[in-house]
Amino acid sequence: MEKVIEIPKVITVRQFAQLLNLPVGQVITHLLKNGIRANINESIDIDTATLIADELGYKVKELKVEEKTQEEKVKSIPRPPVVVVMGHVDHGKTKLLDAIRESNLVEKESGGITQHIGAYKVEIKGKKMTFLDTPGHEAFSSLRAHGANITDIVILVVAADEGVKQQTLEAISHARSASVPILVAINKIDKPEANVEMVKKQLAELDLVPEQWGGKTIYVEVSALKKIGIEKLLEMVLLLAEMQDLKAPVALPASGVVIEANMQPNIGPLSTVLVQKGKLQPSQIIVAGPVWGKIRLLFDEYNHKLKEVLPGYPARIIGIKGLPELGDIFQVVLDEKQARKLADENRIKKQVRKIATKTGLGELSKEIAEGKLKELPIIIKADVTGSLEAIKDSLGEMSDQEVKVVIVSEGIGPITEGDIQNAVTSKAIIIGFKVIITPRARKLAENSLVKYHLYDVIYQLLDDIYQALSGLLEPEIVETKIGKFEVIKSFFKIKGKGIIGGKLVSGEIFKDSIGKVIRDEKEIGKIKITTLQKEKLAVSELKAPIECGIGYEGDVKIKPGDIVEIFKMEEVIKKLKKR
Ligand code: GDP
Repeated sequence: MEKVIEIPKVITVRQFAQLLNLPVGQVITHLLKNGIRANINESIDIDTATLIADELGYKVKELKVEEKTQEEKVKSIPRPPVVVVMGHVDHGKTKLLDAIRESNLVEKESGGITQHIGAYKVEIKGKKMTFLDTPGHEAFSSLRAHGANITDIVILVVAADEGVKQQTLEAISHARSASVPILVAINKIDKPEANVEMVKKQLAELDLVPEQWGGKTIYVEVSALKKIGIEKLLEMVLLLAEMQDLKAPVALPASGVVIEANMQPNIGPLSTVLVQKGKLQPSQIIVAGPVWGKIRLLFDEYNHKLKEVLPGYPARIIGIKGLPELGDIFQVVLDEKQARKLADENRIKKQVRKIATKTGLGELSKEIAEGKLKELPIIIKADVTGSLEAIKDSLGEMSDQEVKVVIVSEGIGPITEGDIQNAVTSKAIIIGFKVIITPRARKLAENSLVKYHLYDVIYQLLDDIYQALSGLLEPEIVETKIGKFEVIKSFFKIKGKGIIGGKLVSGEIFKDSIGKVIRDEKEIGKIKITTLQKEKLAVSELKAPIECGIGYEGDVKIKPGDIVEIFKMEEVIKKLKKR
């Protein structure tokens, strides 16, 4: 029967070895075999651990930390919705975000000048909402790539004169894969060529059927330029938010997500965060991804100092020593000691993610090396059409006469169960660019041993594929003559081993070089040079002219007067012709 071990998302090599009941050295060796160099105190992630455990005949179950139960006991309060604006380029996202910001007269009258801090809040009829101030899909995708699902509502902006375009489709796909409700804002209705009905018809075909037509999707007609329909739009946001009954616990240490961070002259690192739980307050000690600090100052987009920030609200923080990344989780902790520990763990986790990515391709290279593959079947999932096309173009260029990439399927959005099933039948690997894998798909991938690789950086993706493809080519062994040795004395010879003395008359010699033994101008055998000695000292390399001793492995009986030609053997991984 298969043995089951329970491990958390990240585990140190030491703890892992203990669970496996194995000496740490053995575990480290297994890791090395899979291309991971980790020492006893370093951490590996659950994916890597699962891989190793599997080889050793163990099944891995994820150890769930019981966070939820504590949270459930804590009182929750209503929170404002977090809204993101998405849509095709030039359809008016930025203009709309500006119009919404300007509609918020309350703060303006109090004399504040709004700063772009990555998010802002709006109040209408005494109710608040938070808008992410970065139009486009990037923010949304990278937040999600980090596993941070922070938005409650997507406003899909569609220009009434142009209708549905490529990025409109992508925005819909993003919103759907994150299960975030869509509110449609048909923009530019001031234009004479505006055609609202056409837009509704196009969107209805995409399953965004307007309420007036018996569907469920709320449509608002606006002009961001002429500021028409903005208040109605905000009211509809509130309506959608009310339907979701958004709440968050407050009697917990604050936590949330980083939405912007940069260096400010005279101030230093400045981070904007969105609080999701708890109350954020000055003087608290906060960890944001791999960095931490004590909050010196909290303020909002009007540069007003804040005494506390509740869930659903953004705030800027001074006091964090360093810059976290967009999408990093932040968390308030008790003391500096905890902060250091958590920040370190987070740093390791970031590295771990990279290691796990490498592992998969390591495995792949193994299969390739065994000559099982001459084609690399791939399923690609990307965040937007633009990147998908770019990846496909580059992959196409990489193919060679001997080896090639075969794209089995492609698509926009997260890696789903369908992709995994597809990979099982086609024996493809799955490449995700700036997308996540759904939890179900991940489970299925684990069970069916399908390999998936997630990337945030395109050149890393291409590099890995390139390496994998190069691995499909047979390596070439290249011999280079590097020196000549004249044998003066044979000290000793037993089966398979010996020691000779003599003179290196030209070139150089290294430990691990290969020697061809020449007698009467004929090669009589080969040796491997295992040790080098100069005046009783072991050395690893020597240059001619010099007298030295050579320890070797090989079955040749070497005699005084023989010549040993010294060679360097290199396995040259053939490179693909073009990238
Ligand atoms: P984004 O790329 O989606 O952020 O689009 P922008 O907000 O930059 O707007 C693109 C162009 O459309 C700009 O020239 C805007 O002035 C214009 N625009 C935006 N909203 C409206 C609108 O309601 N009516 C008209 N006529 N033009 C608009």
